[in-house]
Amino acid sequence: MSSSRKPLILQIAVNVPLARTFDYLAPDGPVPAIGSRVRVPFGRRHETGIVVGHASESAFAGGRLRRASRALDDEPLLGEEDLALVRFTSDYYHHPIGEVAALALPVALRHGKPLATAAETVRATPAAPEPGELTRRAPKQAALLARLLEAGDTGIAADVLTEDVPGWRRTARPLIDKRAIRIDVTRAAERADEPAFIHGPELNSDQRRAVTAVSTAAGFTAFVLDGVTGSGKTEVYLQLIEATLNAGHQVLVLVPEIGLTPQLVRRFEHRLGFRPAAMHSSLTDNERLSAWRRARSGAARLLVGTRSAVFTPMPNLGLVIVDEEHDHSFKQQEGLRYSARDLAIVRAKRRDVPVILGSATPTLELLKHCEDGSYTRLVLPQRAGGASPPRLCLVDLNRHPPTEGLAAPLETAIDEHLADGGQALLFLNRRGFAPTLICTNCAHIAGCKRCDSRMTVHAGRSELRCHHCGATRPLDTRCPECTGNMRALGEGTERLEQRLAERFPGKRIVRIDSDSMARKGAIDEALDLATRGEADILVGTQMLSKGHHFPKLTLVGIVNADQGLFGSDFRSDERLAQSIVQVAGRAGREEKPGQVMIQTAFPEHRFWQRLIHGGYSGVAADALSERRASCWPPYSRLALLRASAHKRDDAAACLEAARAAALELSLPELRVLGPVDAPLLKKAGRFRVQLLLESSDRASLHRALAHVRQSLEDRPAARRARWSIDVDPVQLF
Ligand code: ADP
Ligand code: ZN
Repeated sequence: MSSSRKPLILQIAVNVPLARTFDYLAPDGPVPAIGSRVRVPFGRRHETGIVVGHASESAFAGGRLRRASRALDDEPLLGEEDLALVRFTSDYYHHPIGEVAALALPVALRHGKPLATAAETVRATPAAPEPGELTRRAPKQAALLARLLEAGDTGIAADVLTEDVPGWRRTARPLIDKRAIRIDVTRAAERADEPAFIHGPELNSDQRRAVTAVSTAAGFTAFVLDGVTGSGKTEVYLQLIEATLNAGHQVLVLVPEIGLTPQLVRRFEHRLGFRPAAMHSSLTDNERLSAWRRARSGAARLLVGTRSAVFTPMPNLGLVIVDEEHDHSFKQQEGLRYSARDLAIVRAKRRDVPVILGSATPTLELLKHCEDGSYTRLVLPQRAGGASPPRLCLVDLNRHPPTEGLAAPLETAIDEHLADGGQALLFLNRRGFAPTLICTNCAHIAGCKRCDSRMTVHAGRSELRCHHCGATRPLDTRCPECTGNMRALGEGTERLEQRLAERFPGKRIVRIDSDSMARKGAIDEALDLATRGEADILVGTQMLSKGHHFPKLTLVGIVNADQGLFGSDFRSDERLAQSIVQVAGRAGREEKPGQVMIQTAFPEHRFWQRLIHGGYSGVAADALSERRASCWPPYSRLALLRASAHKRDDAAACLEAARAAALELSLPELRVLGPVDAPLLKKAGRFRVQLLLESSDRASLHRALAHVRQSLEDRPAARRARWSIDVDPVQLF
C-alpha cells in the first residue's frame, strides 16, 4: 500500500510549556501512527512527543522543518478517543497540549520506555492453524505464527519479538482475535493468589432502585448517588460493576488520593473474585505501567485509580464511577489544574456510557445539575444493614473552657464510650504540636523567613516547620528579639495526642496525619489497628475522615470546628459541612449508635443550627440559594489567574496586563476582579497576586481566557512573573 501520497508531516505534541503542536518530517521507515510516540530534536535537546496528526503541508514557516529522529512505538498508544480527551482537556483548561498528552501517559512511557516489557510473553495457542494455511493470504501472520509455534509452550518475550520482528503487534492483532496466539502478562504470579470470593449482602430497596436506574440507562446519563455515610453506595457500585463486566465492558472507578485505595481494591477483589488493576501514588513506575498497559489492551476489566487514571485508555469502557466525588484531591492544584471528576463526566458523555458520582455530601455543582434536570439524583436516605444515623450535638466552649483543646463533656464522653467497649475518633485538621510559637515577654511570633506565615511547632522533631514552603529550623528556646521564654500556643494533632495520653492512661492512642504516616505502609498498619478495634482512640486530620469503616467506633469529637466557620471563600460553608458530615459518618456504622460532639465557641451560629437540624442537605440548600443570589458558582463560571515573582510589582504588572486583555473584548457577561494580593502574599520567597474572571456564560469566559493567554504569551514583560490559569478553581484563597 505504500504510495507517494502518504502524509509526510507529523504534528507532534511535545512536553513543553507552549500552547501548540510542532511539525516534523516523518522519520525514515514506516510513518508513525497518530497516537504513537516519536523522539524529536527540540532546540538543542531531544524530547519525546506524541503524534497527534498527519498533514501534507505545514502551517509553520515553510521549508525548514526538522525530521523526527525515530519512532518509539509500532502502534498507537493513545486511540482516537483518548486523544480527543487530551485535546478537550488542553482547550478547556487552556493548558499546553504537550503537557496534557504527557500526563495522559504513565511516567515510564513519558520518559521513552518501551510499552512492552519482558513481563509479556507471546505464545501460540492450541487453536492456532498451520502457518501454511496463511502463507498466501497473510504472509506476515504466517511467519509470526511459525516462529511462535517453533518456540512452543515457552513462547517468546515481547521485547525479543519487537527486536526481531518490528511491527509484530500489528501483525498479531488478527491472530489474537482468532485466538490463535495470546499475550500473557506475568500470569504465574497472578494465578498464585486468586482472591477468595465473598458474597455481598442482599440489596435493600433503595439500593435496588439505584442499580435499576443505572443499568437501564441508555447511553450517557450522569447519576448522582447521594447516599448518607454507610448507606451502601459501594454495594451499588459492585452490582453495577459486575453487570457491566458480564456484558463484556470495562469499568473505570476513580477514588480520592488518601491511601485508601488498597482497602477499596481489596474489598472489590473479594467481592468480584479477581484482582482489579490499581493505579495510585504508592505504586512504582513499572507497576503503573503494567496497570495502564492491561487497561489499554482490555485485559484489565476493572481499573481503580486516583486522579490521573481518568486518562487511561480503556477500549471497552462501559461504566465510569467517581467515588467521594466531593473530594478535593480530584482537582489537581498545580501544573495542569484539571478536575478528574469533571473529565470523568466528559469522558462518559463522549463515550455515551453512564457515569455515577457518589457522595454523602454532593457538591453544589452536582446538586444544581440535579435540580435543573441535567443529572439524575439517586438517594440512599438510610444506613444499610439497620445502623442508625449518628447523633450530632454541640459542646459550648464558652461554658466548658478546653484544656489543651479538649472540653470536659467530650472527655467524659470518651470515658463512657471506652468503658462501653467502643472506640473514639478525634478530628483536628491541624498537624504538628502547635500552630504558633510566641514569646511570653514581648509577644514576638516565630515566622517563616520565606513566607508571610507562622512556623508550626513540631515537638517530635524539636523543630519549627512552615506548612506553606516546608522550611524547617530548630525550635527557638529563647526569643530572638528579647531572649524571653517562648511558648507553644494552640493545638495540633501532636499536642492532642499528648493530652489524650495523659488524660486516658493505659489506652492505646493512634495518631493519623501526614507526619505520622510518612513511612510507607504506616497508614495501612494504623488503619488495620483501628479496624480490628485494637486502637482505643484515634486522633487525626482529614486523612482519617474519609471512607473508613471502623466497626467499634461510636464516638467522634470535632475538636476545632470553628476553624472553618468564618472562612472568606464562598465555598467555606459547603466545605465545612462536608468535612464534618464525612468524619461524623465514621461513627456508629454497626449495631451501637454513634455520637458526634462538635466543640464550638459559637453555638448560636446559623451554620450549626442548620447542620444539626437540616443535615448536609439543609446546609447545601441554604448555600445554593445564597450562591444563586450572589451569582457565584454553580450559577456562574470562574477562572483564577495567579502570578508570582520575586518582586511584587512584576507579578502585579503581569496580571494588570491580563486584566487589560480580558477587558479588550468587551464581553458583557464577563466580570474581572482584581488583581489583588493573594491572602498569603509571600510564599517561598515569591510574591503572589491573583485575578478572578467570572462569567454567567461559559463561552465568554473561555474566549476571554484564550485571549488573555495569547496576550501574556506574546508579552515579554509577562515573563518576569510565573503565571497560571486555573479554570473552575476550588481554592480561591
Ligand atoms: P457507603 O459506601 O455508602 O459508605 P458501604 O457500601 O460501605 O456504604 O456499606 C456500609 C456497610 O453496610 C458495609 O459494611 C456493607 O457491607 C453494609 N451493607 C451495604 N448494603 C447492605 C445491605 N443491603 N444489607 C446489609 N448490609 C449492607
Ligand atoms: Zn515558608
